[in-house]
Amino acid sequence: MDQRIRQDHRISEAEALERLRRLQPDDSISQKITENAMRLAREVRASRPAGLSAESFLRHYGLSTQEGVALMCVAEALLRIPDPETADALLREKLSAGKWGQGGGQGGEDSWAASAADWALMLTGTLARWRDADEEPVAQLKRLAARLGEPVVRTAVRQAMRILASQFVIGETIEEAVTRGRALEGYRFSYDMLGEAARTAEDAARYFDAYSKAIRGTPAGDGVSVKLSALHPRFEEAKRARIFSELLPRVAELARIAAERDVGITIDAEESERLELTLDLFEELSRKLVLGLALQAYQKRALAVCDWLVGLRRRISIRLVKGAYWDGEIKRAQQLGMADYPVFTRKAATDISYVACARRLLSAPAHLYPAFATHNCRTVATILELAGDRPFEFQKLFGMGNALYSALLRSQPAACRIYAPVGSFTDLLPYLVRRLLENGANTSFVHQISDPGVPLETLVADPLAALPEPYSPDARIPLPRNLYPDRANSLGLDLSRQDVLEALRKKIQSDKDRERLGEVEATSPRELDFSIARALAAFDSWTRVPANERAGALERAADTMGERMPELVSLIVREGGRTYADAVSEVREAADFCRYYALQARTHFEQPLLLPGPAGERNELRLHGRGVFACIAPWNFPLAIFTGQVAAALAAGNSVIAKPAEQTPRIGFRAVEILHAAGIPADVLCCAVGDGESVGAPLVADARIAGVAFTGSDETARRINAALAARAGPIATLIAETGGVNAMLVDASALPEQVVDDVVSSAFQSAGQRCSAQRILFVDEGCAARVMRLIAGALAELKVGDPAEPDTDIGPIIDVPAREALARHIARLRSSAKLIGEAKAPASGNYVAPVAFELPIEALPKVEVFGPILHVCAYRRADLGKVLQWIRDTGYGLTLGVHSRIQSFIDSVMREARVGNIYVNRSMIGAVVGVQPFGGEGLSGTGPKAGGPHYLPRFATERTLTVNTAAVGGVTELLARPLD
Ligand code: NAD
Repeated sequence: MDQRIRQDHRISEAEALERLRRLQPDDSISQKITENAMRLAREVRASRPAGLSAESFLRHYGLSTQEGVALMCVAEALLRIPDPETADALLREKLSAGKWGQGGGQGGEDSWAASAADWALMLTGTLARWRDADEEPVAQLKRLAARLGEPVVRTAVRQAMRILASQFVIGETIEEAVTRGRALEGYRFSYDMLGEAARTAEDAARYFDAYSKAIRGTPAGDGVSVKLSALHPRFEEAKRARIFSELLPRVAELARIAAERDVGITIDAEESERLELTLDLFEELSRKLVLGLALQAYQKRALAVCDWLVGLRRRISIRLVKGAYWDGEIKRAQQLGMADYPVFTRKAATDISYVACARRLLSAPAHLYPAFATHNCRTVATILELAGDRPFEFQKLFGMGNALYSALLRSQPAACRIYAPVGSFTDLLPYLVRRLLENGANTSFVHQISDPGVPLETLVADPLAALPEPYSPDARIPLPRNLYPDRANSLGLDLSRQDVLEALRKKIQSDKDRERLGEVEATSPRELDFSIARALAAFDSWTRVPANERAGALERAADTMGERMPELVSLIVREGGRTYADAVSEVREAADFCRYYALQARTHFEQPLLLPGPAGERNELRLHGRGVFACIAPWNFPLAIFTGQVAAALAAGNSVIAKPAEQTPRIGFRAVEILHAAGIPADVLCCAVGDGESVGAPLVADARIAGVAFTGSDETARRINAALAARAGPIATLIAETGGVNAMLVDASALPEQVVDDVVSSAFQSAGQRCSAQRILFVDEGCAARVMRLIAGALAELKVGDPAEPDTDIGPIIDVPAREALARHIARLRSSAKLIGEAKAPASGNYVAPVAFELPIEALPKVEVFGPILHVCAYRRADLGKVLQWIRDTGYGLTLGVHSRIQSFIDSVMREARVGNIYVNRSMIGAVVGVQPFGGEGLSGTGPKAGGPHYLPRFATERTLTVNTAAVGGVTELLARPLD
């Protein structure tokens, strides 16, 4: 693949736009396009969509309406829910929000009875609200509802969903699809097999069969779209070698079956992190086979990809789309701290990119056959103008764009193809939601053309006119580094890029060759005594350094950590046994801690807090350092937690003796070096190395230590607490963050695939050696069997091994005693519980293969099992109270996950839970500084939360100052007040 495609990944939007502008039609042509687009748009707006059409649905229920959002939730979840109670709970909740009928929240020109779908929704919406209403029409419905009851409502809505689905999906099977397609004369077809990405080998095999069956059933001349992520459970850059050896032959096989039948195959476009891999795979496959490729214009790299395709000089058909994962792309880039977005932030920029790409694709008619997928009048008019008599086709989605394409075909002949989804109703849901998001968004053409409030002139205007001059990205979408208003966000490394992975791999390998990680000499009792004395002596001057200066040093340290990311990642991988992804987020978290506490210090320590009081008196409260803090960190976040504790203590004006865990001393040393270089004086911060007994215990027993910030096991925390209590002198502060028995609760409305993605990362990432890691899964028995099957399949796909290799998912257990304890626990479970599934681990090395067992609630462990072992318990809906009580009875309260589409379920779990961090519909690990302040309650810790607003004051002592300002002269502020 071309280097330029890599380089263009994160060029600035403005720079990308510069190139695209040069490929736009000139003014006179643009004028012609506008006229033609206007003609089409008038016809489209004048046509009334059929009562039952996808567009009429979107017209009523856009995403900016409460009803649209509620409907999306119902559409996404209803059909998969196995039991009637859960289905009713979902309907009651979603349909009681919003105003149904009268065209929903959007243009009410169509009567609410226009379609059966609308009618059923209106009816049920009103029914669901009947309890609180007493007006006459509602009272009538009330009586009706009482007679019919909820089962009837449920059936009506299910039926409505089916009707809706049939507007978006051409058939449940390929045979049905082909028959229905035949009725649509003048169109060719590209069939798309509905479904989620594969999570397991079994899923992938099922999709392979579905595709090959579809290809065999497709008439010559038509095509099939293939989603690579459906054909392999690990279609990701880190698994490149597997993809080439396992996925490539599967696609080649499908292409061969297709070629024999003269059926076209198009590789569908997916998330941007899969683009490079897709292109390399495509390049290899298209050497010998004829294949098509879908390309997204919203990616900044789109034009570079077009150039590359032109340069290949192979016979290729290309489907140019605008792109359907925009929201997800933005979110992912923000979460991973990417330097820039892979996509344009402005819709108009995407439209411009589309035109530029179209031009390129049309420039090589000998090789490339472009298909332009659009429902936008201006885009259609532009293509007609640019193409002249060169070969191309248009594509529309089944059920959409009917009015536009009728208008177009009335005025001139054009080759058109329908992208037609095939599949069952349950598989429809993700597709439907995607279409709702794409076309229900305010910026979408389909949405706007149905809104009479948007003038057609605006709608068909040249997108160039909508761009600011000079170009700037959409200000509502700040770059990831500017996500927070008051501090810089840390940047990550893009581990979905081959060059980045390869550079890291080489760096780690050369560091390994250069440096052997042997024993580190422990700090002796004399050295420790000396360090404490030095730190105590340094305290007075350090605490007088203005908070602003202390903050500045921490910010410099954060910058250095970002700059030295590869070196730190290498060290964390080698010494801490963490994978690349873990190590990168570790460095980011450490930098975020420094910046966050710097900000807190400036906000709360720089100026006194003035307090109200009587006239003639000034009252203020100031925060000061306490003295020497001992910061004692665990090995499992050797950089992040270590740095966080130290940065907080320093920011608050304390001097620090920092003790890294005995397993990871070098990482602690390196962090201290960075802090010293950033301006923290050497006697203010000292690193003490050694194990708990010989260094940790004497450190906390020393009466000169004013406070302890500890993170580790609750057993050690208790020992430290006892040691502090036994000391003479002032009572020390203790902040202890300890372990947890963390559970995730899943009800029957949750999406099993999403649940399993989140379970796999929560329970097994970092080999389960995170305090936040999930130990227990409580899953509703209605979906338990499916969830467990998926877990087993996903476990079989994990690679356990050397974290220095980029494709490793799960690294080693930190030391031999820890591994042996886990092995004993697994042995007990093997004889007493039911095995759900397990990964494979290398025969040698300190590994424990991730594993999941099913147990009854009584047999679940109430103690922390610190490794990749998941305990699964299927529960009955009626027993939710018992489950919540069990969680409370553990006494721990660190993290809790909930997966559900029903807010009342989430609310009831939240009401009962006594835990520090609750995560809904996502993984339960990876708390972000200042975003999800982290820490537990009960046996899980004392708080306050790390990375939260109350942490820093815990490291400080408070002093007030009261001055009688009337002592000299009188109450001047009373006497000097202005005259009335
Ligand atoms: P650990 O308790 O064995 O050790 C933690 C630190 O305490 C180490 O530096 C150790 O040397 C030191 N230490 C041990 N005995 C001591 C003593 N008597 N006096 C003073 N210091 C002593 O924990 P670990 O195995 O390193 O870490 C894993 C544990 O940490 C798990 O229980 C995990 O849940 C917990 N953890 C909690 C959080 C959180 O934020 N709540 C975060 C990470 C880890």
